[in-house]
Amino acid sequence: MQAFESITEMGHEQVVFCHDKATGLKAIIAIHDTTLGPALGGTRMWDYANSDAALFDVLRLSRGMTYKAACAGLNLGGGKAVIIGDAKKMKSEALFRAFGRFVNSLGGRYITAEDVNIGVSDIEQVAAETNYVTGVTSRPGGSGDPSPVTAWGVFFGIKATVKQRLGKDSLRGLKVAVQGIGNVGSHLCEYLHQEGAQLIVSDIDQEKLKLMASKYSAKIVEGPAIYSTECDVFAPCALGAIINDETIPMFKFSVIAGGANNQLLDENKHGKILKDKNILYAPDYVINAGGLINVYNELRGYNAEVARKQAEGIYKTLLTVYSEADRLAISTLAASNAVAERRINTVKAVTGFKHTYDNQSWIRR
Ligand code: NAD
Repeated sequence: MQAFESITEMGHEQVVFCHDKATGLKAIIAIHDTTLGPALGGTRMWDYANSDAALFDVLRLSRGMTYKAACAGLNLGGGKAVIIGDAKKMKSEALFRAFGRFVNSLGGRYITAEDVNIGVSDIEQVAAETNYVTGVTSRPGGSGDPSPVTAWGVFFGIKATVKQRLGKDSLRGLKVAVQGIGNVGSHLCEYLHQEGAQLIVSDIDQEKLKLMASKYSAKIVEGPAIYSTECDVFAPCALGAIINDETIPMFKFSVIAGGANNQLLDENKHGKILKDKNILYAPDYVINAGGLINVYNELRGYNAEVARKQAEGIYKTLLTVYSEADRLAISTLAASNAVAERRINTVKAVTGFKHTYDNQSWIRR
């Protein structure tokens, strides 16, 4: 991969290659866009086949964070970091502290958090070297597990999508199929049940399914049967890439609204097919922004109620996205990208070239 060509094509401001000989740390920090605020995004640890694959991943993920924050109305830019290596073998306090020093060297342009293979205890070690960290539980005001707020935002996103597609204000009596009863899916089931929705659930973990059946009278379906279930709403809350050439022909629902990341195998192709089939798709990064909203609130002094209230704003954001999709006759994902880009460009015009935020004011001491 030609590094500068890729960075230029994807519009990144800064990409930092980090190497520490003593610990073997090899990491890449990508700052995509800081027009709206400091670039926030988690650190992922992965045994990439080569440095090109790591660079491609961090460029793609950090750009995604720019769009997510912009659409959610947050004053945050997009960033992400990857540490290259086997998380089972390479983790050490020294490695994470070395990484923390690189994060600190960016002076707050990039703020990190947990991501795939990086847990709270790892981030605590990063935080020994830098304040530019979120998701740290040992400091006062930590926001803790984001899943309840993510699920709360997904719940309001489902309500918005149902309002738009089915013209209903309530989910009472509607059949909602939830794929994945993990951190997000289990909270979502609780909120849906409270609203009076009928639940259909699928997971690879039978214990989780039994719990949903006993608590919420949920109907259990096995494996791929979830894709052909007769229901009003499909809420993917497990895996990515589950909307693809194989699954779309099975769909019998007209609303897809769930918390999983990267639901479309091919964003352009499958986004368009859903549009043509009149299936309303809630763009994943818009509907699952509750987790980011939660850590954003940590930066401002965490209050769980404020974070939940802000996550409810996903309802209005999605209605804006749907009206934009109708107006321009484009897929909902293309519309959310347009909404995000418009906000960034508007703020860019106001602030002249780039942001004028004071880095230090973002960080709790
Ligand atoms: P999780 O690991 O707690 O839950 C995932 C669940 O999916 C598990 O119960 C797992 O058994 C199940 N699962 C795995 N393979 C499956 C399959 N083939 N069929 C059905 N179920 C299967 O993860 P989570 O934190 O709940 O996150 C779920 C999704 O939401 C992920 O895509 C994640 O990236 C996204 N997300 C999560 C948050 C958050 O706050 N946790 C925020 C934004 C996005």
